[in-house]
Amino acid sequence: MTSFAAEPEHVTEIRRQLARWVAEKMPREKRREWDREATWDRTLFREIAEMGLIGLTIPEEYGGQGEDIYAAAAVIEELCQGGPSMAGPFIHAAFYGGLNISENGSKAQKEELLPKLARGELFLAYGLSEPNVGGDLPSVGTRVERQGNEIVINGAKRWCTGADWADYIYCLCRSGEPGARHGNLTFVLVPTNAKGVSMQAIEHANLRYTHSMDVYLDEVRLPESAIVGGPEKWNKGWDALAGRALDVEKIEITAVAFGLARAALEEAWRYAGEREQFGKRIGQHQAIAHKLVTARTKLAACRHMLYHAAWLASTGQPCSAETAMAKLYVADTGVEIGLACQQVIGAYGLSDAYDIERNLRDLLGMPIVGGSSDMQKNNLARMWRL
Ligand SMILES: Cc1cc2nc3c(=O)[nH]c(=O)nc-3n(C[C@H](O)[C@H](O)[C@H](O)COP(=O)(O)OP(=O)(O)OC[C@H]3O[C@@H](n4cnc5c(N)ncnc54)[C@H](O)[C@@H]3O)c2cc1C
Repeated sequence: MTSFAAEPEHVTEIRRQLARWVAEKMPREKRREWDREATWDRTLFREIAEMGLIGLTIPEEYGGQGEDIYAAAAVIEELCQGGPSMAGPFIHAAFYGGLNISENGSKAQKEELLPKLARGELFLAYGLSEPNVGGDLPSVGTRVERQGNEIVINGAKRWCTGADWADYIYCLCRSGEPGARHGNLTFVLVPTNAKGVSMQAIEHANLRYTHSMDVYLDEVRLPESAIVGGPEKWNKGWDALAGRALDVEKIEITAVAFGLARAALEEAWRYAGEREQFGKRIGQHQAIAHKLVTARTKLAACRHMLYHAAWLASTGQPCSAETAMAKLYVADTGVEIGLACQQVIGAYGLSDAYDIERNLRDLLGMPIVGGSSDMQKNNLARMWRL
């Protein structure tokens, strides 16, 4: 890849392939059914793995395609044209799993987990948030203690999306006294079937490709090898969280926000060309035309921000500010685009006859999840030494 402006041919080809696949395999009635039942289709997901797409975050020596964040963002965008039902599980495998283990795992963890992740046989859930901890992650209270060659975990995680079907929770734990905040955090891979793990679904309106879960960890006893990166990474969890994996994670959520906003706009655009009121297509009423033209202009700005950040990440350049700006701008603007599109579709935009109702629910969460817009502003002010 030599320039950000020209999309590489292999990415264009992935887009073509996925556009056909989404149109054929994720029809509206299926999308509606998955959303109602908060579920996704594991058999269908295998086809995505067979296309080699999960491997876009995994080195070739571990069965992946070699890291290509730009292409992985394009995969998320294209899958989101059918809602979150395939983009969600893709993220659990390729990003929560593939990217994090490639970046932070020990050699043994890479050898064991990455080939399975690349094949779509293994999924991770993210265990960061807790009942009393949202954006302030350095204050997590779930405790991990060393006992001989074992570790013991006690605590509770909230919003642990997909913990009921994932194989491991990528779990942020406090490994010392709270005072040190960043200095004594450790990531542990907690098998979801370990003794002492229990969970309960949370009812929520958005990202209903699955349930988000409350997870309780009661004397969960694991070998030291469950520490992400191995025992030498004890108390080094913050480095894993705040490093490159976090920059790239912002790209992944930004790609979801962008993909959903694009889906919303394409649907509203089509609708405005078909629906007639007062003797003409509603797109010919200036109020509707202006809404759509403004939304399309903002979407173009979002595309530039997302793929510029993704290009920087893909080419190994520093991208902390660009990924934070992209997450902030695309998430907030995605909500504006979604609301405008819902207005264009009018009453039907509040029914399940169209995708906009689900896309809007999903867009509303984007400025909150994965580091809220306020937190991105705090981080940027700090980065720019304001
Ligand atoms: C559907 C769904 C799925 C999720 N999946 C996961 C998951 O898989 N794993 C996981 O760990 N978490 C998950 N989350 C949780 C999500 O990441 C948190 O909601 C997010 O981190 C924000 O935390 P909070 O909602 O508790 O907000 P809080 O941190 O309590 O913040 C509340 C409000 O105050 C603002 N605020 C807080 N602190 C500051 C500050 N210092 N300066 C300015 N403003 C501030 C915030 O921006 C926000 O507007 C999920 C959430 C949802 C809704």
